[in-house]
Amino acid sequence: MEIRENVPIGQLTTMRLGGEARYVISVKNLAELRQAYDFAHKKHLPVFALGSGANIIGRDSGFKGVIIKNEITGDVSQRNINDGEAEFTAPSGMILDDFIAHVSDLGFTGVEAMSKIPGTVGSAPVQNVGAYGQDISQVLQSVEVYDAKDDIVKTIAAEDCNFTYRHSIFNTDPKLAERYFILSITVKLQKANPQPPFYNSLQAYIDSHDIKEVTPAVVRRAVSEIRAQKLPDPDKVASAGSFFQNVYLSSPEEIAAAEEKGIPVWKGGKISGAWLMDQSGLKGKEFHGFKIWDSAPLVLANVSAKSFTDLELARQEIRAIVQEKFGYTLNQEPVELGDKNEVTER
Ligand SMILES: Cc1cc2nc3c(=O)[nH]c(=O)nc-3n(C[C@H](O)[C@H](O)[C@H](O)COP(=O)(O)OP(=O)(O)OC[C@H]3O[C@@H](n4cnc5c(N)ncnc54)[C@H](O)[C@@H]3O)c2cc1C
Repeated sequence: MEIRENVPIGQLTTMRLGGEARYVISVKNLAELRQAYDFAHKKHLPVFALGSGANIIGRDSGFKGVIIKNEITGDVSQRNINDGEAEFTAPSGMILDDFIAHVSDLGFTGVEAMSKIPGTVGSAPVQNVGAYGQDISQVLQSVEVYDAKDDIVKTIAAEDCNFTYRHSIFNTDPKLAERYFILSITVKLQKANPQPPFYNSLQAYIDSHDIKEVTPAVVRRAVSEIRAQKLPDPDKVASAGSFFQNVYLSSPEEIAAAEEKGIPVWKGGKISGAWLMDQSGLKGKEFHGFKIWDSAPLVLANVSAKSFTDLELARQEIRAIVQEKFGYTLNQEPVELGDKNEVTER
């Protein structure tokens, strides 16, 4: 178990912002994880579970607690249910894209459209990651967690995770976020080819490449290429992926009002946040060191910002522009890490 002190949160996250974390402990197995929680509890410090930091933004105040960095890796296990179906269990510290490559190469469908989403397997259920028509809740069977409150390992069934768009029990209840550390996930996948209808850009790729048989590996390749053209590479450009979320309308009255204003509303009452940003004239514009990515306007790329305060200013100004034009407030996707109140180490 490696303990580091006073580590800039920017070094641990793809947005590359924020003050220092008091302690960062990397854990490779359950025994080390227990020791890390024990360390934090003895010092009366809060704990934050960290995957690869692709959905986290550090506040300037830093975090006077213990970040537990997930390095719990290992093999993927496969349990065949019948000829056409299998359950796969993957360790939480594994890179999600490596897991997707593994099952897609075996000819299993269910996760291939999520190829190249940065991050670890264990973070996937937290914000119910998704892309190109698939999300993890569609295939997840269960999540194995370490429950730090009761010092036990337990299994949480998918139906108890309360999945919605970008949400689950793991990111809506702060008490559970502090208590549960995800150890592995189990998904059920079909040995079959993905079925249409596909997302427009995916269908366009299939047509333009004259692809006759759409296998999971083909979709994986297509999505990987589309994403490489559209999204900033986290190794080269600092961002947390989509900074703003799509808007979801819940009532028929709200949907009718939006359509009357000429706003396209998709299945499930979805309004594309990228469309709202585009129509507000924001594509490519820069605010306080953050650039609104031309080909994916929900992404804020940190091109020259130095602080979380810069982000707060940019966020406020962008939201005001969209609010003024359309009357919707865009919600933020990434999680903020850092102290709002003073924490005392003992
Ligand atoms: C360029 C780019 C593109 C992206 N594209 C997409 C996309 O298409 N779709 C999408 O859904 N997301 C996307 N994202 C966001 C990001 O990839 C996902 O949120 C991913 O799940 C983050 O994984 P991570 O391991 O980096 O998690 P982190 O950012 O480290 O953590 C995210 C959250 O999960 C919690 N967490 C992490 N590990 C554990 C654990 N073991 N137990 C309990 N809680 C844990 C953290 O506390 C935090 O709340 C993108 C990000 C970037 C930078």
